[in-house]
Amino acid sequence: MASILDRITGKLAAQERLTREDALELYRTNDLLRLGRLANQVKQRRWGNQAHFVLNRQINPSNVCVLSCKFCDFATKRGRPNAYEMTLEEVVSRCDADLREVHIVGGLHPDWPWSYYVEMLKAIKARVPQVQIKAFTAVEIDFFSKKFRLTVEEVLTQLKAAGLDALPGGGAEVFSERVRKALFPFKLGAPRWLEIHKIAHRLGIPTNSTLLYGHIETHEERVDHMLRLRALQDETGGFMSFIPLAYQVGKTRLVERQASALEDLKTIAIARLLLDNIPHIKAYWVTIGEETASVALNFGADDLDGTIGEERIMHAADAESPIRQTRDRLIQLIREARCVPVERDALYNVLQVFENGHRLVAAD
Ligand code: SF4
Repeated sequence: MASILDRITGKLAAQERLTREDALELYRTNDLLRLGRLANQVKQRRWGNQAHFVLNRQINPSNVCVLSCKFCDFATKRGRPNAYEMTLEEVVSRCDADLREVHIVGGLHPDWPWSYYVEMLKAIKARVPQVQIKAFTAVEIDFFSKKFRLTVEEVLTQLKAAGLDALPGGGAEVFSERVRKALFPFKLGAPRWLEIHKIAHRLGIPTNSTLLYGHIETHEERVDHMLRLRALQDETGGFMSFIPLAYQVGKTRLVERQASALEDLKTIAIARLLLDNIPHIKAYWVTIGEETASVALNFGADDLDGTIGEERIMHAADAESPIRQTRDRLIQLIREARCVPVERDALYNVLQVFENGHRLVAAD
């Protein structure tokens, strides 16, 4: 009888879509290298040998949050010693002239007015007009909508007018009611997360998507999550990338240890094979470490994210990766994977292709 990998090879040759059962069988295979090769073939078909990165900066304006999700080491309450709140000036001062993307996500602050968020985007664009702003997860958009009595369309339209270019993919966690009830019962569920992204796509705001894995979820729940993203992408085409986020054990300790590198690579490879309509699969070095991220570029991933600048959310959960990277280090990680580094912006427009040696080739 043909193995699952033989069958998937046949399906890929015939350009047939993978099913839920295919993906679950792939999770059961022990032949990680062949799985990686298949995913890499799919990646190569789209992107050749290229791997993307961006000069970006993460800004987390406050860790004060009205919620207390059980997997989150980042959030705290006002008045606690670790609580912080940035002024608009502090946010804007982090936006250096060489950046191409700022990524802004934070706690659901109980008191900040709507004007704080709108003015933040305007002030960033005024200081660094070339920077693209990827800001506010669907969880934050949902919070703004309810707190400020605006529809999701109104929230997104006003943010877009102020300078919003894209939405990050965070807050999706796992689209499983079982997991939601256990870990984040007061946060939006799958239907609302998907609805917000659908509205964003309709308004011309591209978005990313994520999966938080390696805690209490099952492989079935991971696959179902990816399939719901694939279904929405069939409708809208608005997702730029899929980012598997490895849960950091930190102090929340939902499990004893972080998912293994093998599990990271399998999830990235299966995502590349299953999500045939999402252009980019990201190996997020912050959660899986730079070495595994580099290897993942040969297991279906085509993007390492970016320089980050200052990562607080995963490092609050004791992530062992560095807090930032230099452009040179990202280029090195990509070259170690025998790929060609491509610097992009937040919307995946190509800025520079770094060919052999240090020759810089401007892209079309
Ligand atoms: S995951 Fe987000 S919404 Fe939940 S507690 Fe942390 S910051 Fe707040």
